[in-house]
Amino acid sequence: MPWESIKNPTKKMLDDLYQEQVRSANKPCPDCGVKPGKAHSMNCDVARCQACGGQRLSCGCKKPGEDVWDGLWPGTKECYEKGYVAKWVSGWPFDSGRLIFDYDRWAVERVTGSRPSEYVVSP
Ligand SMILES: [Zn+2]
Ligand SMILES: [Zn+2]
Repeated sequence: MPWESIKNPTKKMLDDLYQEQVRSANKPCPDCGVKPGKAHSMNCDVARCQACGGQRLSCGCKKPGEDVWDGLWPGTKECYEKGYVAKWVSGWPFDSGRLIFDYDRWAVERVTGSRPSEYVVSP
C-alpha cells in the first residue's frame, strides 16, 4: 500500500485533518455528482448500503436504501472518532507525507469485525 498507518496520531493531527475535510464538504459527490444533502444516484460508487454499511454497488443487499451524500467521504467521521490516520508515502497523487484518514482500515474492520493483522500493535 502506498500509505502507512500512524499508530498514535495526536488529537491535533485528527482535528486538522477533519477540519480540512469539513471545509471542503460543500462539493458534489465525486462519483455521481449529487450535491450535499441529496441522495446518491442508484449506481453511485460512493453510496453506502443502509442495511450492511458496505459499498452499495457491490454488497448485494435487497434493500440497500438511499444514502445521502453529506459532503464527507464515507468513513471520515468514523476514522476521526477512532483515530485512524495514515501517512501517504508514495508521492502520487498526493504529496509524500500528506496525512489522510485511513479509510481502508475502517472498511476492513467494519466488514470483518476485527482489525487486520497488520494493524495489531504488539504490546
Ligand atoms: Zn454519489
Ligand atoms: Zn448491503
